[in-house]
Amino acid sequence: MSDLVIPAPPLPTVPTSTGGRFPVRRVFCVGRNYAAHAREMGHDPDREPPFFFTKPADAVVVDGADTPYPSVTERLEHEVELVVAIGTGGADIAVADAIGHVWGYTVGLDLTRRDLQAEAKRLGRPWDTAKGFDASAPVGILVLAADVEPTAGSIDLRVNGDLRQSGDLADQIWSVAETVAELSRFVALAPGDLLMTGTPDGVGVLERGDVLQGAIAGVGSVRTRIV
Ligand code: MN
Repeated sequence: MSDLVIPAPPLPTVPTSTGGRFPVRRVFCVGRNYAAHAREMGHDPDREPPFFFTKPADAVVVDGADTPYPSVTERLEHEVELVVAIGTGGADIAVADAIGHVWGYTVGLDLTRRDLQAEAKRLGRPWDTAKGFDASAPVGILVLAADVEPTAGSIDLRVNGDLRQSGDLADQIWSVAETVAELSRFVALAPGDLLMTGTPDGVGVLERGDVLQGAIAGVGSVRTRIV
């Protein structure tokens, strides 16, 4: 018999190519990991180490499900990203060992209330309400790390069929291994953690009714409709 004083929250999970589901513990994101996107946001990509922010685990939206347009924003924007799923935890992971901690990969969308983010930047406030809102992390079906090596190849996003973002994983400033190693200096990574690894340039505004299709060559895709 449980001694929980309220019902336990449901465990967020993501479908995988194995047929099983991946339980989500936390969602970490890296900012400005493609030079062209850093420049379009007004920063010099050469002088900035990677930095991290988070979304709640239950911000995950599974592939094909609708995403509700969030409250308190007039500028919802898309960022298509390679998502890394941690299968084996660890702290102070060496770059050479980092890929061994990865269970799999998929495509994700780091949905952003850009107006709230701009205000937070201006006022020196946290990004939580700009980045970590409900349903802010649509993700595709996870594929096993053993089956793919996403170090190069196209990453793109179409909205209503129109190409909005088109980049290449080879243009990431920090590789997956470097990013996992760096994040593990700040937190002990654990099985179930997801890491969104940054977006290429071409981020833009979304409206209700838009259908988003993100894709990464050799990894897969993610689809959602803003409702
Ligand atoms: Mn992002």
